[in-house]
Amino acid sequence: MARHPEEECPHCGERFRAGRSSCPHCGADKETGWLSAEDQMLAEVELPDPEPTEKERARIAADARRERHRARADMVARRPLIIRTRPLAALLLLLLLLAFALWRAFS
Ligand SMILES: [Zn+2]
Repeated sequence: MARHPEEECPHCGERFRAGRSSCPHCGADKETGWLSAEDQMLAEVELPDPEPTEKERARIAADARRERHRARADMVARRPLIIRTRPLAALLLLLLLLAFALWRAFS
């Protein structure tokens, strides 16, 4: 039986199917650079929270914006119609009051 080519995780030494971007056993991935446990520990000690690059920050901000936008859209969609249209209703009421006030003032 032909086996899939395998790779050995440089982190935990478990074998897994080649081509994966992360180890299914310990979670090490190309992002962490397939560090050995010792190297990873050192890296974490030396760089507990690496400063995100401009590009990463932009991506994080964009993700947050998208998330907020979606949450807001969900919230609006769940609201009853009367509440969804409340700003418009308030504006109409205000115009009506204004018209009434003008009518009272000039007649
Ligand atoms: Zn592993």
